[in-house]
Amino acid sequence: MTKEELMRRAIELSADSVRNGGGPFGAVIVRNGEIIAEGSNGVTIYNDPTAHAEVSTIRKACQKLNTFDLTGCEIYTSCEPCPMCLGAIYWAHLDKIYYANDRKDAAGIGFDDDFIYQEIELKPQYRKKPSEILLRNEAIKVFEQWTAKTDKTEY
Ligand SMILES: [Zn+2]
Repeated sequence: MTKEELMRRAIELSADSVRNGGGPFGAVIVRNGEIIAEGSNGVTIYNDPTAHAEVSTIRKACQKLNTFDLTGCEIYTSCEPCPMCLGAIYWAHLDKIYYANDRKDAAGIGFDDDFIYQEIELKPQYRKKPSEILLRNEAIKVFEQWTAKTDKTEY
């Protein structure tokens, strides 16, 4: 399939999602031009705020390929990934991102991914969402156990 055909499939999934009660987002993960997994936004369907099209499609692709590493795969998503999905794409080691609508288009219909991108650029104390450091001296001991563990699966 061509890049345009693959993106059209992602867009088609986003349109199906709108018809089926989900958010207007769709994605496909592709390896060597072949679709490995398809997904769409299921936030309101599953009451899962992390069920974005990209995250859902990453989960399906990893299950199908029985791996946590999607090196060699690419994602086609109907909209520029939000910061959560961008992070998931990095963690999944996908090779490349293709997107159609961008974050400004998303903000224009009430999905303010752009706001979160702006928050990330700020130091934690200037963000709208407060955070507080607590019990680091206790939690760090687990990191030390991880470092010392010789039979761990690194990712
Ligand atoms: Zn997202």
